[in-house]
Order: sequence, then C-alpha cells, then structure tokens
Amino acid sequence: MRKMASTFPHGIHPTECKHTAGAATKRLPWPPEVTVLLSQHIGAPAKALVKKGQQVKRGEMVAEAGGFVSVPMHAPITGKVKSVGLTLNPRGDMASAIIIERDADADQEEIVGDAQAIDDLSPEELVQAVQRAGMVGLGGAAFPTHVKLSPPKGKRVDTVVVNGCECEPYLTTDYRVMLEEVTWIVEGARLARRATGADEVVIAIENNKPEALEAIMNAVPNNEPISVRSLTTKYPQGAEKMLSRALLNRDVPSGGLPSDVGVACFNVATLAKMGQLLPKGQGLIERIVTVSGGGVSRPGNYIVPLGTSLRFVLEHAGMTDNTCTIINGGPMMGATMPSLDIPLAKGTSGLLALTKNEIRESNAHIFPCIRCARCVDACPMFLNPSMLGLLARKERYESMGETHNLNDCFECGCCSYVCPSNIPLVHLFRVAKAVNRERSASK
Ligand code: SF4
Ligand code: SF4
Repeated sequence: MRKMASTFPHGIHPTECKHTAGAATKRLPWPPEVTVLLSQHIGAPAKALVKKGQQVKRGEMVAEAGGFVSVPMHAPITGKVKSVGLTLNPRGDMASAIIIERDADADQEEIVGDAQAIDDLSPEELVQAVQRAGMVGLGGAAFPTHVKLSPPKGKRVDTVVVNGCECEPYLTTDYRVMLEEVTWIVEGARLARRATGADEVVIAIENNKPEALEAIMNAVPNNEPISVRSLTTKYPQGAEKMLSRALLNRDVPSGGLPSDVGVACFNVATLAKMGQLLPKGQGLIERIVTVSGGGVSRPGNYIVPLGTSLRFVLEHAGMTDNTCTIINGGPMMGATMPSLDIPLAKGTSGLLALTKNEIRESNAHIFPCIRCARCVDACPMFLNPSMLGLLARKERYESMGETHNLNDCFECGCCSYVCPSNIPLVHLFRVAKAVNRERSASK
C-alpha cells in the first residue's frame, strides 16, 4: 500500500548530482590482488585463518569473527595468500589484512558455499547464518547485521524499516540495487522480519526515485505484511532516527537506539545481499560501488571485489588529472582518502573523484559566527550547532557532551553545509567526540 509522502523536521536539500543513476551496474575487471582488511566493520576485528603461501578459493572463509560484535571475512578472489600483515586502512592508520594474489588461470566465477534450506532455519539459526556470511550494513556504517537482528534483552522489534532513501548526493548504488535486485531485496526483507520476529516491514524510498518505488511495489506480494512508503526527498532522510520519525512517528530517545522504539533499520543493499547469499550459504565478497565526480571520465556503478585498491577502481573509471580529492562514501558523511593505495571495504558505497569546482576548499576563509541560526534550523537532531561550535573552539569538550548532547550528533554535516561563515562545525564535533572518548578511556 502506498501512502502520502512524509518526512522529518529540519534537514537540507543539497544538489543531488546523481549523474550515475541511469548507468546499469557493470563488473570491473579482476584486480591482480586484493587486500582483505580484518576490520571492515564496527566491533572486534576478524582473526586470520590462513597463512602466507596458502591457496584460497573465491568465497572461502579466510578470517573468523573475533567475537559477537564481529564478522568473518571471505576470499574475494581465487588465488594465493601473499602475506598476512599490516596495511593502510581508510582511516589512514595501519591495520591487519590478508593480501591475496589472483590466480590468473582460475575460474573466478566459481564461488565456495553450502546451499542451505533457509526456510527451515529458526530465527536464532538465521541470525547465525547472517553472521557466517560476514554481513554488515552496506549503506556505509558497516555495523554487523546479525547484531541488529538480535535486539537487546527486554526489547522487542515490531517493525523492520528498509532504507531505500539514498539521500547522499552523487550516490546511486541503492537506486540500481532497487531496479536490478528487487527480488533479493524482498527475500532479504522476509528474512529480516523472521529473524527479528517483527510484525511488519516498511520499505522507505524518497520520491525522487519513482522507478525504484514502482519496481519494489510490483515485487511485493499483496498477502505479506510488507508495505512501501514514499518519503519527501530531503537530507538526511536515510538516517535511522529520521526514518523512525518520518515513517512511524516514533522518536528515538537521546542516547538511545531504534530498538528502544521497536524498530530495526536495514539498508536495501544489505537486505539484497542477505536475500542473495543466505540460500547459497555464501559469504560477502563483493559489492556495488558508485564511482562518480568530475574527476572520472567513466562514472558508473561497478561490482568490485572487496579489497580491490581504490587506485585500481578509479583508474578503470578513467580518473583524470583534474581530481583534487577522493571521498570514500558520499560528500556529506564520507571521508577524504589519504592515499589511493587503500583497499575497498564492505562499507564503501561510493568513491568520488571531485574537482576543484566541486569542493568547498578547506582553506576557504572562516568568518566569525554571525548568530544567523541557519545551523539550528538545519540540525535534524534539534541540537544547537552554533553553541557547540563556540564551545569546541574554546576546547570545552566535556561541557559539549554533558550539557549540549554532543553524542546525539551523528555527523550528518547539515550544519556545516548551511553555515555562511564556513565554520567547519562537523569537523569540530568529530574532534570533540574523539577527545571525550580518549578522556573517558583514560579515566
Ligand atoms: S552534524 Fe550534528 S550538529 Fe550538525 S546538523 Fe548534523 S546532527 Fe546536527
Ligand atoms: S550557521 Fe554558522 S554563522 Fe550561522 S549561527 Fe550557525 S555557526 Fe553561526
């Protein structure tokens, strides 16, 4: 059933720049080697199960989960383990990884996996199967999916929300998944409902994607408790708390989680992968990535083995000398990459090669706050970014957390985007949170 478009209060309308929306997904050539980071998710790193020189097959588990909040890793290509050691990760730190050299003669179409009768699995067995598949949120957050499917003791999830909003500019991965993998999305939604014991599933799509809305509505059977809702196009509509408010009129309490209000939220691409991989008993070894920006001559949506270097991906997309900055993710919440010799991870939804015209230069002049309150009107969490910014510049980080709810800031970047004084508010908040984390750890 389709209802009227609705939304959440505040937010912004950045230029969409979704130039790759019409580009059907294509597979990138096989890279000569992949670097499988052992920590591509929130939680404990995976533990390597292979040694240098060992032959591995595409889809074989090469690292086991390092705890409950952790997932295993699977070989994205068939080949030989070149090394197990340290490499540069997307944060710019050194991190453990397994490097696999591709076997030039191997058939990369063959994938290891044991088909399983998914309908016979209990909810607990389903959750275990999701963890075995190495599933994490593919929208960018990379939170282990099986943890979201297991609400904390004493909390009941009654509604599974499926996020098909893709509100970040440039990114069109989810859009293509909604057009090309719709049956897997519906299968994944069914599995998520069964695993959580939820009463219903609500699939949310912004109203700038009418073809995706139509495709999903046509794929959802009338006799199942799955509904499709059109939401107003606005950033950050795809954030869990915004979806909970817009779809169900439920506000997640300060410091709380969607499960506090009976909601579990999953990205469409995550559910599509669950629907694809679980019946085959296979692990997550590749993903669709939007490669876009004025710095690439062949922008598009590419299927890329995990662990492929950003350099390989961007070179195949025709990166030009006009590129000034590489962003991992979208321009609002993504991170600038310190090097191209970094492997693609499970949470990499987009790679943007942006030119000078497309970025607000970091050396742009910063003016004093003029108390215009544009940031206050934009903040979807009803925070006061102007006041938080003032406290950050005075290094009063503790007070930002204690009396101004800094931890409710999910770094959407709306405040920085609208600020006429170019104050890098979200950057200041990230620094403040990091300092507070360090101080609490040392206490
Ligand atoms: S970055 Fe934080 S403070 Fe700024 S608008 Fe988003 S939630 Fe509000
Ligand atoms: S938008 Fe910028 S200038 Fe305006 S109140 Fe906020 S911080 Fe100050």
